[in-house]
Amino acid sequence: MTKTKSIQTTLTHSDYRPPAGFAAYPTPIHHASTVLFKDVASLRSGDWRSKQAYTYGLHGTPTTFTLEARLAAIEGGTHCLLAPSGLAAISMILLALLKSGDDVLLPDNVYNPTRELGRWLANDFGISARFYDPLVGARIADLIQPNTKLIWTEAPGSVSMEVPDLRAISAAAHDKGILVALDNTWAAGLALRGFDVGADIVMQALTKYQSGGSDVLMGAVITRDTAINDRIATSHMRLGMGVGGDDAWLVLRGLETMKLRFDAHDASARKVAAWLKGRPEIAKVLHPAFEDCPGHDVWQRDFTGAGGLFSVVFDARFSGEQVDRFVDALALFGIGYSWGGTHSLAVPYRMQGMRRDWPDTGPLVRFNIGLEGTDDLIADIEQALGRL
Ligand SMILES: *Cc1c(COP(=O)(O)O)cnc(C)c1O
Repeated sequence: MTKTKSIQTTLTHSDYRPPAGFAAYPTPIHHASTVLFKDVASLRSGDWRSKQAYTYGLHGTPTTFTLEARLAAIEGGTHCLLAPSGLAAISMILLALLKSGDDVLLPDNVYNPTRELGRWLANDFGISARFYDPLVGARIADLIQPNTKLIWTEAPGSVSMEVPDLRAISAAAHDKGILVALDNTWAAGLALRGFDVGADIVMQALTKYQSGGSDVLMGAVITRDTAINDRIATSHMRLGMGVGGDDAWLVLRGLETMKLRFDAHDASARKVAAWLKGRPEIAKVLHPAFEDCPGHDVWQRDFTGAGGLFSVVFDARFSGEQVDRFVDALALFGIGYSWGGTHSLAVPYRMQGMRRDWPDTGPLVRFNIGLEGTDDLIADIEQALGRL
């Protein structure tokens, strides 16, 4: 090496090392694709699965490991894998646990992109994907075939809101040695811990309450069984499911206030839902804490809260077009997908064609109740109902 390094080398190899011992509350944001090894021997012995060392940015940094550990603790699990979206977490689970010839059971009210994924696996990958009534309970046993490997659950379905009996479904599955995965996005590990009701694998879209800001996409898969985690971790590695440090930090920041936000969403949503319940335009309030909601009794037994998401079914005298105009007339509610953020949202759905045997003909609107004042939200809904 020359004594005086060229400017190109000086720009990339600095001798400066900051002093050790800096302390502050936030988890530092580590950005890395390349992770440095101290010598070739440690590079050769590096194991991408290890949480005790670092091998490559895709497999984790101190920032993502910290987030994984905190999420696992919220659900009472021992392992956590992060994915770039909730849907990516779902695909990672299905691809890890199913192969050609296998069968998976999915609830008929499942998050629609999960349904799409199931259909794709069925059409192009030789996997059988069958849809069951989310209120099936213990009768799920009758649907299990010798090649059934996984029962997917979602509690509650995030549009139609039926609350499944996860204890009964898990018991029937475990009786036959079948794994149960739960999409626990709605309860966020706060109103329900998936492992307490029998889930083997818990998935969360961190895009919702964990981030809380409608500004980041991420998903998590939490388990408490090393063998199951290893299978999903292999799929995580093969599919290249890494997340960036900045996004992980946004979720870490959100987690610290998540319980307070969740409880505030919950209290506001119940107030708005109770007001809607008294309105003549509304036929049903599909909020798990309300009796209209199928599976309300299961919610009472298993859940400790509800968060900000619920739906209402309008009286059948209103057309889909009229209810679309109601949503357009809302001023404080944004029109858009996702939820768990501070801003209230409303989305109209046509359930016929989305759900088999849907009992109601009236149009449905799903609300995400944000952190605005409830009196203002109710006044806004009232003026928009006036347009009907
Ligand atoms: C939003 C959501 C997902 C997917 O999360 P993304 O990060 O948007 O991909 C999965 N399941 C449920 C129930 C959701 O609400």
